[in-house]
Amino acid sequence: MIRIRSTDIYGSGRYGASRGKRLHNGIDIVCHKNESIDAFESGTVTKIGLPYNPEDTKKAHLRYTEITVANGDRHRYFYTDGIYLVDHVVSRGDTIAWAQGLQDIYQGITEHYHFEIMKPTAKRRYRNPVVILKGLGHEFLG
Ligand SMILES: [Zn+2]
Repeated sequence: MIRIRSTDIYGSGRYGASRGKRLHNGIDIVCHKNESIDAFESGTVTKIGLPYNPEDTKKAHLRYTEITVANGDRHRYFYTDGIYLVDHVVSRGDTIAWAQGLQDIYQGITEHYHFEIMKPTAKRRYRNPVVILKGLGHEFLG
């Protein structure tokens, strides 16, 4: 069961929700800090990235793991501490990371990790993860 962060004082975790001048390009999946994060789809780790400027001392520790899946889409799990290095092959359901937690940075936010799907190349760069995850058999709460 996947639960998407509903509106809190910082906004909504739904795909396409307002983020000021831009739209939220993924979904925020409710979790607990240090909870294990499992791969939704098999693929190869193609990046362990930094979502923020490393000089931003409050956020410099945050990471994301990017897994490129069979059709070339990049599944990106943000605010998670990845277990594997680039080129590691993972299977659907494997634990790939732990949730880093955001409540120390954003007091009162609903704890979550961010999941987004980038197309290999396209004008509209992102897919709606809800559609993809439902296609993989996942169910959503609420
Ligand atoms: Zn998000």
